[in-house]
Amino acid sequence: MGVYNIAVIKGDGIGPDVVNEEIRVLNKIGEKFGHKFEYKEVLLGGAAIDACGTPIPKETVETCKASDSVLLGAVGGPKWDDLPGELRPERGLLGIRSELGLYANLRPAIIHKALASASPIKPEIIGDSLDILVVRELTGGIYFGEHGYRSGKYGEEAYDIENYSEFEIKRIAKVAFDSAMKRGKKITSVDKSNVLESSKLWRRTVIEMAKDYPEVELNHMYVDNAAMQLVRNPKQFDVILTSNIFGDILSDEASQITGSIGMLPSASLADGAFGLYEPIHGSAPDIAGMDMANPIATILSGAMMLRYSFGLTDEAKAIEDAVERVLDKNIRTGDIADADSVRVGTKAMGEAILAEI
Ligand code: NAD
Repeated sequence: MGVYNIAVIKGDGIGPDVVNEEIRVLNKIGEKFGHKFEYKEVLLGGAAIDACGTPIPKETVETCKASDSVLLGAVGGPKWDDLPGELRPERGLLGIRSELGLYANLRPAIIHKALASASPIKPEIIGDSLDILVVRELTGGIYFGEHGYRSGKYGEEAYDIENYSEFEIKRIAKVAFDSAMKRGKKITSVDKSNVLESSKLWRRTVIEMAKDYPEVELNHMYVDNAAMQLVRNPKQFDVILTSNIFGDILSDEASQITGSIGMLPSASLADGAFGLYEPIHGSAPDIAGMDMANPIATILSGAMMLRYSFGLTDEAKAIEDAVERVLDKNIRTGDIADADSVRVGTKAMGEAILAEI
């Protein structure tokens, strides 16, 4: 029997609504497969500002660091929008990612068969399903390079430096190759190596790493072409490996192709097995506490935690299959419902998934 210590940040808005369902589902998995999940709740974002006057209390960082993994709902909301930058909920989010050394962001863009019609892409292109994994470098590149202002030929100018070390590229490439081995064994590495030196090093390093993974088919694409190919022929992709800024843009594009923000989970991984797992959506203050939020993205984030942090593949699959069966029965929260659906709220959706495990 495995015992796993999990730090839980329910967060703001719909965060608590959806994380409560995720915990119920994990507990059912624990019962069924003989594991014990121990949770320690901590504050971040708006809830932390209200209780402690800071978006990222020390205790939260310490508890997360002492845990095997972290579950997060979402943070932020209009209540805290007028606070100065240092005190805003988003500062908590960026702060916890950097405190925990989460350098690899994994964002699956999946279209479930039953929801294919929600995609804004034509059915003849999308077919009846889609399964892409975007692996984005999260702690390097232009967002973390040198920023500044200087006086130039035409007056004041600003600069942001894109900077990648071989170490950082290898580290993220390894995550992508290991992920590809567990999926379709195909990687598209996205760069701009026709123009950028950092991309040339990126491409060279990825090619070098591919030698350790002879089973993985590797190809390269310039980022402008990748943005186009994602809408033109998204089914050609299995794993997309890319830098911080390109991944920021492409992962949002990929998630929009699925048409349902309430369905998509994400993982941010550090060295070893440690990770933070959260839905890609925000705190949806418009529906907070109303039993309307779709908990599936968060429940699938829990499945990602089982797979990536704890190596519990069968258990993760049990959750994913249960979600699939619920969707096949046309049980839907409002955001993904159509005229024929059995419409349910957050708790009833959690209940329906529990019943299928
Ligand atoms: P949002 O994702 O919260 O909401 C966008 C729209 O999608 C809303 O209409 C919302 O009702 C709907 N929606 C989102 N998740 C849903 C779900 N699970 N089920 C059903 N409907 C859902 O984005 P936003 O409105 O731009 O941001 C709201 C707040 O969330 C802001 O304060 C923002 O800063 C914060 N935010 C936090 C995160 C995070 O914690 N990682 C990410 C994005 C936004």
